[in-house]
Amino acid sequence: MTLSIPFANSYTRLPPRFFTRQGATPVANPTLIAWNAPLAAELGLPDTADATTLAQIFSGNTLPEGSEPLAQVYAGHQFGGFSPQLGDGRALLLGDVIDTHGTPRDIQLKGAGRTVYSRGGDGRAWLGPVLREYVVSEAMHALGVPTTRALAAVATGEMVFRETALPGAVLTRVAASHIRVGTFQYFAARGDTEALEALFDYTRTRHYPQANTPEEFLDAAIDAQVRLVTHWLSLGFIHGVMNTDNTALSGETIDYGPCAFIDAYHPQTVFSSIDRRGRYAYDNQANIIAWNMAQLASCLVPLCPDEDAAVARFTAMIHGMADRIAAQWLTRFAPKLGLTSPSEDDRALITDLLDLMAKDGADFTNTFRALAHGSARDQLTDRPAYDAWHARWKARLARESDAMPRMRAANPAFIPRNHRVEQMIQAAVAGDYAPFHRLNAVLAHPYEDQPDAADLTRPPAESERVTTTFCG
Ligand code: AMP
Ligand code: MG
Ligand code: MG
Repeated sequence: MTLSIPFANSYTRLPPRFFTRQGATPVANPTLIAWNAPLAAELGLPDTADATTLAQIFSGNTLPEGSEPLAQVYAGHQFGGFSPQLGDGRALLLGDVIDTHGTPRDIQLKGAGRTVYSRGGDGRAWLGPVLREYVVSEAMHALGVPTTRALAAVATGEMVFRETALPGAVLTRVAASHIRVGTFQYFAARGDTEALEALFDYTRTRHYPQANTPEEFLDAAIDAQVRLVTHWLSLGFIHGVMNTDNTALSGETIDYGPCAFIDAYHPQTVFSSIDRRGRYAYDNQANIIAWNMAQLASCLVPLCPDEDAAVARFTAMIHGMADRIAAQWLTRFAPKLGLTSPSEDDRALITDLLDLMAKDGADFTNTFRALAHGSARDQLTDRPAYDAWHARWKARLARESDAMPRMRAANPAFIPRNHRVEQMIQAAVAGDYAPFHRLNAVLAHPYEDQPDAADLTRPPAESERVTTTFCG
């Protein structure tokens, strides 16, 4: 049995040099690990398929009717160095569907086999990163952060080889699109203005229809990224690989590799094993997004009638990002302290708390959540310093009403803690998927106190701590 999906296949109407048409490489014995039924309904997918059929389709063994699969090409700056050609090395776009809100959404298989863009890689994914992306991307969605989603996870019944043999899996990712800064860079680097124009039109129509010029487009793209990255910061999220090929023009968080949430707060925290110099550390993410937007800006220059004037205006816009980030940062952090209409004085109140937390290595999530429960003092070791801060905060809070519910809505009780994600992966590799399903269920309601899940709010014990994450 197959499934008929009303794909629009809009990307296939772009010039042929944007992609390579190809199918997935079949796998031995696909079994369905997870199916995101609410997301499937939102996408308007038929609900007639059984688990066996879903496993066949979302492993790549059976092509759904209506799909014209392809691998997209892009380029990108990886840790600051330019790679003129990357592309979907282990992903395949099945197509885009119009969801129940009227919005086009890409459905993509990740780990579906080699493509022309794979180079040395095997085109596969192992179970760990697939389950990590499933849990963390769905948690991000529940936390309110724009993100790609997870529709399905399928075990392939095959082993993949990393340092050792590991069980293989395929993730089905849903995205507002998979257009990256690196997609623009691919054509800009080749001086292919015709392709850039086609990409600009396609991306503008899909994401920023209100933007009529490259300048308005850049402004809208900057706005989306500023909102996104400050949202990450407000939750202690570290993306881990903010290469320009991992910055989506949609403004969604994309490419969950070595990402992680901070437990003990320190602004220079890094988890990724390959980020040796801290380029993508927690507190460098705002700088990096400005750098990535500068790369996008330079790609848009050839689309402007007066290139010198465009360079001047775009440069000013990139320099202006620092102020936009600072403003949006304040907008995001103020409700975490229960504050409305924040002023610059409030900024100091927030940063002073963060400084205290950093000095004490306080748990980021639990300290903010405890503010709403009146128990933040317990989270810090320097009590006199906290008491002094608390007096200032109380005085400021006197001008607010309903601060507690506001704080509970801005400070989650639950995040996908790194050690829990790792424990979940270990269990799944041993055949036990219960922790995976439990994490998904609890993280679907991150702002609710769930007494039965109190264990998932605890920071890692010394023996549980995971300090390094991998790309997979
Ligand atoms: P990422 O670090 O996930 O952003 O990937 C960077 C590039 O490497 C992308 O072009 C991927 O498609 C490619 N890539 C990552 N893993 C594999 C793999 N196992 N096989 C082939 N290509 C891969
Ligand atoms: Mg990537
Ligand atoms: Mg990746």
